[in-house]
Amino acid sequence: MLIRFLGAAGEVTGSNYLLESENSRYLIDCGIFQGENEEKNEAPFDFSPSSIKAVILTHSHLDHSGRIPKLVKEGFKGKIFATLPTIELCEILWFDTVKLMREEVERINRKNQRAGRPPVKALYDEEDVEATLKLFEPVPYDEVVSLEDIKFRLRDSSHILGSASVEVWNKDTKVVFSGDIGQWEGVMEGTPATIEQADYVVIESTYGDRVHKTLEQTREEFTRIIQSAISENGKVLIPSFVVDRAQRIIYEIRLLEERHILSNRIPVYFDSPMGKKVTEVYRKYNNLLSSELQRYYLNSRDPFDIENLKYLSSVEESKRINDIDTGIIIAGSGMCTGGRILHHIKHSIWKENTHIIFVGYQAQGTLGRRIVDGARNINVMGEEIAVRAKIHTINGFSSHADQKDLLKWAEGFQSNPVFIITHGEMTSSQALSQLFRIKGYQTLIPTRGQSIDLLKKEISEVKPVPSIDWNSLLSELEAQISSIKERVTGSSDLEKFSLLKAVSIILREINEK
Ligand SMILES: [Zn+2]
Ligand SMILES: [Zn+2]
Repeated sequence: MLIRFLGAAGEVTGSNYLLESENSRYLIDCGIFQGENEEKNEAPFDFSPSSIKAVILTHSHLDHSGRIPKLVKEGFKGKIFATLPTIELCEILWFDTVKLMREEVERINRKNQRAGRPPVKALYDEEDVEATLKLFEPVPYDEVVSLEDIKFRLRDSSHILGSASVEVWNKDTKVVFSGDIGQWEGVMEGTPATIEQADYVVIESTYGDRVHKTLEQTREEFTRIIQSAISENGKVLIPSFVVDRAQRIIYEIRLLEERHILSNRIPVYFDSPMGKKVTEVYRKYNNLLSSELQRYYLNSRDPFDIENLKYLSSVEESKRINDIDTGIIIAGSGMCTGGRILHHIKHSIWKENTHIIFVGYQAQGTLGRRIVDGARNINVMGEEIAVRAKIHTINGFSSHADQKDLLKWAEGFQSNPVFIITHGEMTSSQALSQLFRIKGYQTLIPTRGQSIDLLKKEISEVKPVPSIDWNSLLSELEAQISSIKERVTGSSDLEKFSLLKAVSIILREINEK
């Protein structure tokens, strides 16, 4: 069995792995590139779409699902396997994508026409989405599905509703694709399934170099920001993915109101044409949510419903809140690459009493990343705007595991697999790889386009651990650390920082044991 890494290799977005057995070809995910590499979405696939037997989809996020309608448009006729919530969320996200793409294409073509250039076309349209939806085949978690020469099984990865890791068997080899992995004790979806056996594990590394703050710290931080914005009579803008993160934020606001920290008179707006529908899917499949959230439903209450929450579907409704003084606005897109958040940023980022809270990963090359990185001026929809708002980043609400949780998930494997690290910026993937190697695991970081033959174990086995002289090892470490402390660490030491951080995590773990 051969895997070709065609996206999310050395980068976060564009997940796309081609799995080739002796007789057939399968895809694990087929997502869009976001940020820097966006132009790759237009490029032809590196394979013939009609040669693919089936697609196994880990979850609905567009960086995993967004190019599937293009695949169908270009000749793919096989089945697309996914969980039911994933299918329903894809339907909502894809139709919204078509709408956004059409608006963008119309804008470009008006320019092109004036400049005498030929018109451009959208990646796909409604008809392609309709045709794609017909190919879906729902698969429940934990059930083995046999295809021609492989078997696969979806396991709950607790990243968003319906998200899955995929176990694939072919002959004597087993490979696991982590998909995106959620936090270990996630507030929304609980804890990811532990998988014990694999020869190879393709693992994401979005936050491979970072440890999130604790839930308590995260909630305190969120409370503090909201309180100061309200006291300054300002707006709180929360650019957010419409699936999962937005529902999480609404739930967190609900908790603040339950504890009387936040008045339920402060208006909260979920400004998205998809918002209501997505939240509806969460309600429908609430049996897949964490026990904390299920408890609400058992008591006939809804964790995603608060009195002062307004869903804004139409553009007119959205425009009407431009002039409000104070309130919390949740809007997409999460990385400010488009969507209604742009209007709100344009209207409010130049005001000092505006607070913008980033609650998700910001890919390189996106407007969100530029703001987070401290840009003083930004260009929003063709207009130069000064950044005077207070900018905050809260990673603790992330639906992604941090370094510590990725390690926990990896430690579930009892078979000493090779970890193939993907879906992360290079520094993240490398930090995770270093940590795994310290733990004695074999790792690989593939580059885009690289193939790995899973039948031949090309990587040499890890040597058995020699007996350890703890005392001399620790005193050597102490000596090294005090010499580092003596000098000011310059930028040349930056690359070692992630390794040091990894070491400190391991030391803390040893201590706790
Ligand atoms: Zn995801
Ligand atoms: Zn992802």
